[in-house]
Amino acid sequence: MEHKDIATPSRTRALLEQHHFNFKKSLGQNFLIDVNIIRKIIDASEIDATTGVIEIGPGMGSLTEQLAKKAQNVLAFEIDQRLIPILDETLAPYSNVQVINEDILKADIAHYVQTYLGHCERIMVVANLPYYITTPILLNLMQRSLPIDGYVVMMQKEVGERLNAQVGTKAYGSLSIVAQYYTETSKVLTVPKTVFMPPPNVDSIVVKLMQRPYPQIDIDDEDRFFKMTKGAFTQRRKTINNNYQSLFVDGKKHKKAITAWLEAANINPKRRGETLTIEEFATLYEQLKNFPELEI
Ligand code: SAM
Repeated sequence: MEHKDIATPSRTRALLEQHHFNFKKSLGQNFLIDVNIIRKIIDASEIDATTGVIEIGPGMGSLTEQLAKKAQNVLAFEIDQRLIPILDETLAPYSNVQVINEDILKADIAHYVQTYLGHCERIMVVANLPYYITTPILLNLMQRSLPIDGYVVMMQKEVGERLNAQVGTKAYGSLSIVAQYYTETSKVLTVPKTVFMPPPNVDSIVVKLMQRPYPQIDIDDEDRFFKMTKGAFTQRRKTINNNYQSLFVDGKKHKKAITAWLEAANINPKRRGETLTIEEFATLYEQLKNFPELEI
């Protein structure tokens, strides 16, 4: 029997009724009911028959179905057990989809990628993300050295703007630096609330992040580097000098060393975190090695 696309109001409503499904707000369940938006997301991700796709939160399969038609394989992580029998039904025509009923923040992604997408030439993450955990999901995927080539992901507008922010703007912060370090980011499109069921409270944006072959700067301990950059933004209205006094162990006792460290990196201690480029943070990081009394 020929079915309508899942991403239509009528098919989505029919599935909801048939399975007595009610949305869980706490899981960020806003399902896509517009196939045109899905096509734009898929076009931006340049998927072909050699691409493996990781999807986070397939819901009832609206995006998954269209991904399955273009990609070699789709690996989708869905936390909500109630959606598994629905996905079994909606995705039955697509033998190249594997649904894993696990929390994306806890799953052994490397293992599943190796098992189900190991043979694919290219791996893309394509998802309409659960907004309440957008940042942890992206940080977790980027920082784990997974074989991912890029991401085309829908998220709430504010987070998308932070990922894509230029130095000196209000949206620029530690998240912009992590994203810039690992990827080249660009905006794909803004999305109206009307394409979701139920409509979310916030505006949405689709962002593309392509993994860089090498990070933009050379850092030997990424964890330490990102803790250091985050420290510059703890209180955005304060100078970096002030913020770093709170970051370092016994920072208030090391005021002189902090000023000396900033000056050694040619950074005026009165500047604010949002004015520092990623290269300037890299210089600060290198200089920090000469100030062993400054412990993070
Ligand atoms: N892809 C579907 C669509 O566009 O119609 C649903 C997108 S909805 C915004 C987010 C989905 O992520 C929901 O299906 C939700 O149950 C799922 N989800 C929420 N938290 C999750 C987690 N920690 N791990 C995996 N999936 C999660």
